[in-house]
Amino acid sequence: MSSPIIIGNWKMNGLTQEAKHIVSTLLTYATNHHNFAKTVVCPPFTQLQLVKEMIESSPFGLGAQDCHFEDKGAHTGDISPAMLQDIGVKYVVLGHSERRKDHQESDQLVLKKTIAAQNKGLLPVVCIGETKQERETNQQEKIVEAQLKGSLPQNFNGLVAYEPIWAIGTGLTANNDQISEMIQFIRKKLVAQYGENGKKISILYGGSVKPGNVRDIYATPELGGVLVGGVSIVPDDFIKLIDIAQ
Ligand code: 13P
Repeated sequence: MSSPIIIGNWKMNGLTQEAKHIVSTLLTYATNHHNFAKTVVCPPFTQLQLVKEMIESSPFGLGAQDCHFEDKGAHTGDISPAMLQDIGVKYVVLGHSERRKDHQESDQLVLKKTIAAQNKGLLPVVCIGETKQERETNQQEKIVEAQLKGSLPQNFNGLVAYEPIWAIGTGLTANNDQISEMIQFIRKKLVAQYGENGKKISILYGGSVKPGNVRDIYATPELGGVLVGGVSIVPDDFIKLIDIAQ
């Protein structure tokens, strides 16, 4: 794989002191290392501004974990793509399995969010992946294909993250063959959907990525990078993921 992208999804973690500690550790790393893998942090909404100011003149990118599909209006508690763009966010994770589950997000809704995010110049990171039960009954390809078809717009300018739900936060990582097979499958579908452009879309893997398994994961053919949850808030381990990618 050429240099991967490493995206840290903090999920619902990161009070101010913790956010400062994580980002300071990354900044110290950046002052001592050059030309390392592209790295993006996705803190919760409450820490976006702080993190943005901290990483301003660093190589780190900034992402959010969700957005609404409208730019403004009567949607109490929601955050719009325009608001994210306004404060300098570049990436937005959409359709994460935790949002699909906790907020009943459908492919149709993820599609609307993806289009809205792109329209504001954000890069959507669209998450797909099967449940344990779907894997056990060998339905993973069918599920992933339907999610790709349902969640991605006709013109897609973003990244796809394959996150098997059974591997998220469980310590169970998909094995190399499982990752590799699914990445190939997703690539095939993207090429069928987008032609030549489908070859350029980055496909990431997420699910219990750790310093101990990331070397093997990076070696997966066609893999564009990793989407990391738990380890992204353990800065000493997170920088190991960056270091190993060099
Ligand atoms: P973990 O790395 O904690 O398994 O989470 C993966 C994930 O959901 C990233 O979006």
